[in-house]
Amino acid sequence: MPADIRMRNTASTKRHVMHVTTQVPELQTWIAGRRSAGDRIALVPTMGYFHDGHLALIDEARRQAGKVVVSSFVNPLQFGPGEDLDQYPRDDERDRQLAEDRGVDLLFRPSVAIMYPPGSEIHVVPGAAGADWEGTFRPGHFEGVLTVVAKLFHLVAPDVACFGQKDIQQATLVRQMVRDLDWNVDIVVVPTVREPDGLALSSRNVYLSESERRQALGLSGALAEAHRAWRAGERTAAGVKARMQSHLDAVGRLEIEYIAVVDPARFQPVAAVDDETVVAVAGRVGRTRLIDNIVLSRGLG
Ligand code: AMP
Repeated sequence: MPADIRMRNTASTKRHVMHVTTQVPELQTWIAGRRSAGDRIALVPTMGYFHDGHLALIDEARRQAGKVVVSSFVNPLQFGPGEDLDQYPRDDERDRQLAEDRGVDLLFRPSVAIMYPPGSEIHVVPGAAGADWEGTFRPGHFEGVLTVVAKLFHLVAPDVACFGQKDIQQATLVRQMVRDLDWNVDIVVVPTVREPDGLALSSRNVYLSESERRQALGLSGALAEAHRAWRAGERTAAGVKARMQSHLDAVGRLEIEYIAVVDPARFQPVAAVDDETVVAVAGRVGRTRLIDNIVLSRGLG
C-alpha cells in the first residue's frame, strides 16, 4: 500500500483521546500546554451522572472553543444537612465513556480532599439575587456553588464557561460573580433539555418512581400554562401565577415550594410581566426535589 494511503487510513481511524485526571498539577500542565498552543478553552462544570442536558452543554462548549474541559465533582459545599449528598447518583465509567464519545478533551474529577484540603474556609457569598427562591429553600447552596465555580475558574482559567438554563438562578449568580469579581470569562447559558413530554432532564430524575415521574410533569405543565397565559395576553404576575396554580391543583400531589415570577437580572419579583420575565418553580414529589423554569415569552422551548 502506498505510504500516503496508509497515512490517510491511520488519520481517519484515529480515535479521539480524552485526558482524565483527578490531580490539579496534571490539569494545569495540560491547560498550560493548550494555552501555549493558542487554544481557546471552554469549561463545563458538572456534578457528573451525565444526561443529554450535560451533553448539550458540552456541544455548546465545543462550538465556543477549540478545547473542552468538563469537571465532574459532587460538591459537598452546595448540599445542606438532610439533602441528598450521600445518595447523589454516580457512574464514573459511564460518564467517562459519554464524555469521550462527545469529544471532551479533558475530564477533571477531583476528590473532596483535593478541592477542599483541611483548613480551607474562604467562601464566595452571593448577593441579593441569591437570597430568595433556591436561596431560601437551600440555605448555603449558592455559597457552595459560587465557591466551587470560582475555584474551577482559577484552576482552568477558561475563556468561556457553559451553564444550563435549568438552574437559571445559579447561572444568573455566576454571571454576576464574573462581573463583580472582574473575571475575564464569557458565560454562556444553554436552553433546558427536556424529555419529549416536557420533563426537564435532571440527574435526580433517577430517584422518581413511575407514578412520581407522572406527578413531576406538573412542573413543566404549569410552566407551559404560564406561557399559554402570556400568549393569550396575560401581563400580570398574579394572573400568570393563578393559571399555574390551577394547573397544579388539578395535577395534585406535588408539594410546591415556590412559584417565582422575577426579572432575569436580579431575581426580584415583578408585578407586570414582559417577554424577558423568568417564571421558576420548585417542588417535591415524594422525597425528590425538582426545579424548572422558563423565560415567559419562550415557553418550554
Ligand atoms: P449538574 O450536574 O446537575 O450540577 O449540572 C451541571 C450543569 O448542567 C449545570 O450548568 C446545569 O444547569 C446543567 N443542566 C442540568 N440539567 C440540564 C438540562 N436538562 N438542560 C440543560 N442543562 C442542564
